[in-house]
Amino acid sequence: MVRCDDLIAVLFPHFSAVLVERVFTECGVVHIVARTLDGTAPCPDCECPSNRVHSCYQRRLADTPVGDQPVRIELTVRRLYCDNARCERRTFVEQVAGLTFRYGRRTPALRRTLEAVAVALAGRAGARLAVVLHSAVSRTTLLRLLMALPDPSWEVPKVLGVDDFATRRGQHYGTVLIDCETRKPLGLLPGRDAETLATWLREHPGIEAICRDRAGSYAEGARVGAPQAVQVADRFHLWQNLGTAVEQCVRQHTRCLQPPCSDPSDLPDIELPPAKEMSPIEARIRERHAIVHALLDQGHGIREIARELHIGGNTVRRSARAATPEELLGGRRQPRPSQLDPYKPYLDKRWAEGHTNAVHLHAEL
Ligand SMILES: [Zn+2]
Repeated sequence: MVRCDDLIAVLFPHFSAVLVERVFTECGVVHIVARTLDGTAPCPDCECPSNRVHSCYQRRLADTPVGDQPVRIELTVRRLYCDNARCERRTFVEQVAGLTFRYGRRTPALRRTLEAVAVALAGRAGARLAVVLHSAVSRTTLLRLLMALPDPSWEVPKVLGVDDFATRRGQHYGTVLIDCETRKPLGLLPGRDAETLATWLREHPGIEAICRDRAGSYAEGARVGAPQAVQVADRFHLWQNLGTAVEQCVRQHTRCLQPPCSDPSDLPDIELPPAKEMSPIEARIRERHAIVHALLDQGHGIREIARELHIGGNTVRRSARAATPEELLGGRRQPRPSQLDPYKPYLDKRWAEGHTNAVHLHAEL
């Protein structure tokens, strides 16, 4: 058999330092009325113990729920004199470990719970979960708890990830810094210009590699702030570049894709896109060409446009040089006539027969 006192000591360890006078339920809320013991308490400044009472008052604290019911603690605490003549403090209020802290209206356990909710869900969503946890607080309270938390400590990473983010899309941009090995964010910088990044890098020496996008400002910032660091394109932009290159290549060679000439009944139906349909890349190139020329007409410079559209300076220059988007589409949509053209049917026939040696085929021609 477990004694009731033992059970209470296990479930409510933070009440061991106080005298519980009364417990009752009212409107579904558990009220615990308690007062502190008559022992000494240390002055928060000089740590001299004292038990000379100045006055008493009641603190109301919210605690973590028990048995699916919210808990309110009405705790009578003492204001004590500090009798140390060399201490400037005359009186102080005693604190109970695990139950109170200065100016706190919640127990440390409840505060920790709400901090965890705020970290995971922030304002509105956090406030909704807090209601379920019988610890209803406003979203602004959760945000205040979140903002009061100290920043997690971190060391200067070996591989730093740099990318931009928008607070008001197209209006304000900042820079987010990430430790690429732990995948944890390290900080946010105001702005995405080269000098902002260079200043941060100078203040945090020891970075070996910088993983960035293709924007010229980050390249320059990294070169100035951390000249020893290797600069690499991040994975997202490598995949994006590859995707763009493959799409462009396939687009240029659409005419090479002849429909199979064997018996069509043996093959599954494959719907080829109509040749006139615009591919995503073509649409993008046309749109970018239009935007670049519109901005140029408004008097913006190449670098300014590159920064605004967040594309490379060379891409902007190519668009600026091209009078029409067709020039950017490679001008290769209509293959130029070649002196090989008359021999192509012969070459196709020989290739199909298995003769793939280029030197021999050249000799035959
Ligand atoms: Zn003192």
